[in-house]
Formats: sequence, structure tokens, C-alpha cells
Amino acid sequence: MKADRVCEIRSTCPYCGVGCGVCLSADAAGGLEVRGDPDHPANFGKLCSKGSALGETVGLEGRLLAPRVGGTDTDWDSALSLVAGRFKEIIEQHGPESVGFYVSGQLLTEDYYVANKLMKGYIGAANIDTNSRLCMASTVAGHRRAFGTDTVPGTYEDLEEADLVVLVGSNLAWCHPVLYQRILRARKKRPEMKLVVIDPRRTASCDGADMHLALKAGTDAALFNGLLCAIHDAGAVDKHFVTHVNGFDETLAAASSDRDAVTGLSDDDLRAFYDLWIRTEKAVTVFSQGVNQSSSGTDKVNTILNCHLATGRIGLPGMGPFSVTGQPNAMGGREVGGLANMLACHLELENADHRAAVHEFWGSPAIAQGPGLKAVEMFRAAGEGRIKALWIIHTNPAVSMPDADAVRRAIADCEFVVVSDITAETDTARLADVLLPASAWGEKEGTVTGSDRLISRQRAALPAPGQARPDWDILAEIGRRMGWYEAFDYASPAEIFREYAALSGVAGKLGRDFDISGKAEMDDRAYDTMAPFHWPQSAGRRGGRFFADGKFYHPDGKARMVPVRYRPPEAKQAPRYPFRFNTGRIRDQWHTMTRTARSPRLAAHLAEPFLDLHPGDAARLGISHADLVRVESPEGRAILRARLTDAQQPGDVFAPMHWTGETAPCARVDALVAAVTDPVSGQPESKASVVAVTKFQAA
Ligand code: SF4
Repeated sequence: MKADRVCEIRSTCPYCGVGCGVCLSADAAGGLEVRGDPDHPANFGKLCSKGSALGETVGLEGRLLAPRVGGTDTDWDSALSLVAGRFKEIIEQHGPESVGFYVSGQLLTEDYYVANKLMKGYIGAANIDTNSRLCMASTVAGHRRAFGTDTVPGTYEDLEEADLVVLVGSNLAWCHPVLYQRILRARKKRPEMKLVVIDPRRTASCDGADMHLALKAGTDAALFNGLLCAIHDAGAVDKHFVTHVNGFDETLAAASSDRDAVTGLSDDDLRAFYDLWIRTEKAVTVFSQGVNQSSSGTDKVNTILNCHLATGRIGLPGMGPFSVTGQPNAMGGREVGGLANMLACHLELENADHRAAVHEFWGSPAIAQGPGLKAVEMFRAAGEGRIKALWIIHTNPAVSMPDADAVRRAIADCEFVVVSDITAETDTARLADVLLPASAWGEKEGTVTGSDRLISRQRAALPAPGQARPDWDILAEIGRRMGWYEAFDYASPAEIFREYAALSGVAGKLGRDFDISGKAEMDDRAYDTMAPFHWPQSAGRRGGRFFADGKFYHPDGKARMVPVRYRPPEAKQAPRYPFRFNTGRIRDQWHTMTRTARSPRLAAHLAEPFLDLHPGDAARLGISHADLVRVESPEGRAILRARLTDAQQPGDVFAPMHWTGETAPCARVDALVAAVTDPVSGQPESKASVVAVTKFQAA
């Protein structure tokens, strides 16, 4: 029998929020062999198509190897002095609010920590936001409203132990494949376990499901309000658990005045789902971008949480609401306060005691006094000249932000733009005054947190090429050059992690959930060899699950049910723009394809940008399968290849969001998306814009 191969270097996949462990082995030619780590608790050796193609995506092609100013290569000293000098100058002239950082869920936690500290404690504003705003900000806001903290109550094991898993607005089969496979394997062992998908589209996740509820786009809140009423009518409210919950009566009253008829689902389908949910105690409701990316995303999240709170199905094995994040370190960014309205370690920016505690811990000259600009607001402010200096790190907002053409113009018009990235070949990097070469995945050290609060190490297996440097190092160097030498005198990510862990102890003493202070004293070797672990790591509450004990983080220790009335999407279909436009991911590409486009194997899955539309709509418009179509919204236009499929409902169309000005100049689909946001979370409504579709006639 062949012996198991040794895992040379253990790291974590840089793509989705499942956070799979990988084993890396570098070869002499600079290549990388990547295998699933059999011991990692997220994936136990399994990888999806993207993860298993990681080895094909490393290499020097397209890499940014030296700092670049005004298009010319230079040395670090000149570039860093320029960046620090210009930031200082602009802050002196226009105040700290005139500078913004737009960062990314690709950052490691240590990078995020330093960026957050620099902006909120030293520059003294809170204008740091992240592309995670586009991914899960509504979940963060919903958790905070319900629980008092942004806490994911359960773990991946709950999805296997459940008797019913409900996927809402989540194509888990393509977007979190290893987690989906874990559910399918559990179903094989226990065929009685049920899987329900709630999604306007018939996605790949429906292939393994018992029930697909193809609701009308954006009506999730009405569906879950209906479920809450059905729970009440069936006498299934957990009367003991709701003594730990405020707002039950008001929430039920609001839900009762909603009509689940707006979902477009038949009474029989609704009844079948409600009955199944009510009679199946061990139920997990998994939700993702279809819920979050909405002008009522926070409300939708709370309607789901309301049902779990009413039944006490939370934090127990096989029970609970469960949000899955799109990015590898979206959770780490949340924990470290990487959003414009948060402080590190789940401390609240709006809370004077929390601000004072962080201010004192950092010993900083300032502390941001209130929330900064969220992503959409930040680029709007740049376009209006209120933000005069932007530092964009590992993300491509000129393609991926809603109303992307306006964002591209805003970046182009901004007085001073710095981009840190691994490549100069993105739409955003081309607009930068200064480009800073950053280390890539496989070359850097730090930690990430997966969707179930599992903190894992990323480790380097390859040397950084050219002059590329880790992000924490670049950020700390700017902090030092701006005059804060001691505060940013870090020698390693281990040192940053220890400081972060110590700060979490302060948060723990203030009664917050995020506490990893048990790691604050560990030495470099312990950091190097750190195995994946769930937070919290405090004496009272170690790892595992939250809330089954009825203890929450609002000042009175109770949870809150939030009354919600269904609101339709902001953009209204009209004769000029009759189609509801949905955007999303495909199985084998990642974000704007900076990495995945390098793999021929991944590119072969779906090779070009497309628009899915219903055959009936296509027939009416004289469109045949594979025709080119012109898609136009009030914000922009694109040319895409038509795919006719009854997986789409009549009147709905779908396009993937990966292609860029670099890869397909006519297919930047986020240029079509309206910059409408949720009023609580600031998350854009990326799944319910309106468009017109016509057959493309070449001039
Ligand atoms: Fe990577 Fe996500 Fe695939 Fe796991 S499921 S290998 S984390 S992309």
C-alpha cells in the first residue's frame, strides 16, 4: 500500500470562504504542487476545481516586480517616500477624512490589522473599507442587530449533522464546492437528510436538492416572514428560548402584515417548505450573496435569524443560521475591524468606551470618532473630489464595483492613487499614480479565518519575486515614514498577530465575543506551527458554538428579533428596462480572474462572458442560442453571448461578473449594476438591477 505523502508546507486556499487547507511543495523550477490537506478541518483533503488548479496559477507572467511611479520602475525608498509624503501633505491640507483605503478579503489578518490601525488610530479617520462590503456586509449588520455582535453561531459540522439544510441565495455547489460536497456526503450516509434550495435561478446546487423554491427575485424577506407566521400558527415557538429574546410580538406583527404571495410561489410549495422546516428540529439555514447583495439585505438576514431565534434552533448541533462568506479572509477582515464602521476585535466604533479602550491599547495620537465612508460612498467621494488620496490594495474596483464606469472615472480623477497588487495588468492598476508590488499567495505568511470562525495559517512556499513585499510590511513602512515609528515597528506577522491577540483580550474584558488572547504570548515557533483553531479561545468559551445557552451580546444579554416588512428591489422593471438583472460567480473563475485566468483547465469550463435568459423571452426578441446580445441598463452597457435556458425565470437574466476590461472590454457586467445600497449595511444591490436586452447588430 502506498504510504500517505508528507504535507511539506501547510497553508490555506486563497479563494472562497470555506478556507480549505492545502499542502504545498515547491519544485526546483519555481512551480508549486498543491494538494488538499488531509488534516485540515475545513476540507479533510478535498479541493474543488479552483483549489486543485492553484499550482497552474503561480508564475511570473504579468507580475509586478518593482515599484512603479508614473509608469516607470523605481526603488522602494523613492516610492514609499512619495506615498508617505503625499498622504501627509494631503492630510495637512484637507484633513484626515480626505484619505481613503480600499482593501480586500484577499488580505491576511495581519495585513488587515496594520491597515486598520494606520487609518483609525493614526490618520484618525475611519475611511477604510473593503471589497467584503460587496460580499457580506448585510450579514454583519444583521448579526449585530440580532445578537449584539457579528457572531457566526455554528460550525461546518452543523451542516452535516442537520436533518434539513436550506440554501438561500447561495449556489453552494459552485461558490463553496467543498462545503456542498460535505453536505452531499452526509446525505449519502443519512438519506433522510433533506436539502432545499431557495433561489430565483435553477443552479447547480439544485441538482442534489429535494426541493427548489424558485421565488421571485428579492422576495426572501416575505418568504421568511411567512415562515415565522407558520411557526407561530403551528405552536412551534420555543417559549422558553424566547425569554432570552426581545421583540417577538412586534416582529410577529410585522411578519403577519406581509404577504408571502409576492414570492410568486404556489401555496402548496410554500406550505410544503414551511411544514418541512417546522417539523425538522435540526435545521440549518445557509445564506450568501443572494440574501446579502440587496437593498434590503440586512432585513432579509434578520428574517432568517428571526425564525431561528423564535424556535431556539441556534448554536446546537445541526441547528442554526449560517452565513457563508465569498472571500478567503472576509471573516478575518470582520474580526479585525476592516470595515469602515467597525473597530478591531468586534469592538464598536460608535461606542465611546470601546473607542477609548482601543485608543489606549494602541497609545495612538487619535482614534476615529465615528464610521467612515463605505465602499460605494468612498468612490462617490473620490469622484466628487472629497477623497483626494486613495490606496487600493489587492482589489479591482474599476471592474467589480457597481456602476463600474463611474468608479473608473472617479479613480482616474482622484488626485493621488496608490495601488498595491501582484500585477499591473488590472483595470484599476492602470489608473494608479504609484504601483507597489506585493507578495502573492504562496509567498506570504499570516492567518485567515474561514466562514465558521476557523483561524488557519497561510504559509510561504516560494520566495517573493523581484522587489515584491508582504502587505503588512508595506503598510508598516508607510506608517513609520508618516512619523509613527514605534507603533509600526513590526518585524514579522507573528509580532502583529500577538498584538492583535492581546487586543482581543481587551475586547473580551469588555464582554465581546471575539477573544483569542490565549495566543497573545505565543512565540514565533508556536505561530509558525499553529494548527487551525476555532475562536474564541478564552477560558470561558472555547471554540465550538454560540448562543444555545441563551446568552447574547446586547447590553441586557438578550437577542433581538427585528420586525421586517418586505421591500421590493430599488430598481423597477419598466418598458425601457424590462429584465431583472442578476450577477454572480461561475464555478471555475474567481473575482476578476487575476489568478484563475492563468489556468487553461479553469478557462475551459465556461470560456467567454455570457447572458442566461429564458427561451420564451429570447423567442420574443428574435434571439437564438449563442447570438451576441446587447445588454443595457441606465448605468452602462455590455455585449454578451446569449445562452437560452429554462433555469432562468421569464423576465430574469443572469451574467457572471468575472470578465474585465483586460479580458473582455465589452463584458464588464458591473458597469450595468446600479450603485444602490442597503441603508443599514451599505452593501450594493448586485442581484436586482434592471436592463434591456436586444440582439446585437454589428455596425
Ligand atoms: Fe478553495 Fe473554496 Fe475550493 Fe476550498 S472550496 S478549494 S477554499 S475555492
